[in-house]
Amino acid sequence: MAERAPWAADPGRSRGRRHPEEPAVGRSDFQRDRDRIVHSTAFRRLEYKTQVFVNHEGDLFRTRLTHSIEVAQIARSIARRLGLDEDLVEAVALAHDLGHTPFGHAGQDELNACMKEWGGFEHNLQSLRVVDELEQQYAAFDGLNLCFETREGILKHCSRRRAAGLGEVGRRFIEGGQPLLEAQLANLADEIAYNNHDIDDGLRSGLLELEQLETVDLFARQAGQVRAAHPGLGGRRFVHETIRRIIDELVTDLLDETRARIAHHAPDGPDAVRACPPLLGFSPEMRRRADELKRFLHENLYRHYRVLRMTGKARRVIRQLFDAYLDDPRLLPPEHRERAREDAPRAIADYVAGMTDRYAIKEHRRLFSFDIES
Ligand code: MG
Repeated sequence: MAERAPWAADPGRSRGRRHPEEPAVGRSDFQRDRDRIVHSTAFRRLEYKTQVFVNHEGDLFRTRLTHSIEVAQIARSIARRLGLDEDLVEAVALAHDLGHTPFGHAGQDELNACMKEWGGFEHNLQSLRVVDELEQQYAAFDGLNLCFETREGILKHCSRRRAAGLGEVGRRFIEGGQPLLEAQLANLADEIAYNNHDIDDGLRSGLLELEQLETVDLFARQAGQVRAAHPGLGGRRFVHETIRRIIDELVTDLLDETRARIAHHAPDGPDAVRACPPLLGFSPEMRRRADELKRFLHENLYRHYRVLRMTGKARRVIRQLFDAYLDDPRLLPPEHRERAREDAPRAIADYVAGMTDRYAIKEHRRLFSFDIES
């Protein structure tokens, strides 16, 4: 790890864990958090959860697992260059999507609609719930008992109303203030990762065409550079060369802008970062260009009819599973049924959210069709 900058989070001065534990031996407490996340059940489930394309649509598309690993890679390499705590950044990056439902945003939106009368469902809050309560692996506590800083980084958005029920970790959503730089970084690395891998997956799937992408400034400029440097290059290599340059351009801009903001605000420690405006970010010009790419992907990929066709099916699967269990909680497996005795809607939401795409599809068949063995 590079030398720690004064504004970096310090694992030796963590605000601690919900259940006190002896400090980790031979690794920092943030490393221990990262390790616990990698060993969690929720982390392994990410392999079979949709990012944009449902798992069975192709072997080479990103899943939530490979997405999370790409986020961690981008976040770590930026962290090293800014002197931030790489372990904390990696822990937050690997955990940021643990609360995602099957079928990507369609699943999340439908589960939120199902839970309307009971406080809703939000994947970000669910990621925190997974690491705080739902993982059941340790003798002494529920959840992974992560450090405050890791938990705070995982909770990147939250309404004031919901934050009120979360104690210390929700405080900044009520009182204002920023999270640590490591959390700010994991959030932006998420955006860099998905914007770029969604271009790649979009082209691979045939839902996007190169000519369309040429209308997007970020893509067009780098594609032009690749053509100039490698005349005649085509196919996958051309796409990959262009995307890697876009990532590099975004990262370079982020580093320059962030260094300038840090120099200007001169935080004298990680807690001073909280009182500053967001210190980690793109320049205004790059923000505009990155937003253009995001808008392009929204209009042309996420709302492509073939993606929406999946979205519609996914919503129906989630809704019907939820309603069937709510109607008769005896259909739940024993441990979830036990939890449903206290709060059926929340226990059902936790169960459905934890499902992988293929498990949800299989369970839906078990409940609604006679055509397979149960
Ligand atoms: Mg993500």
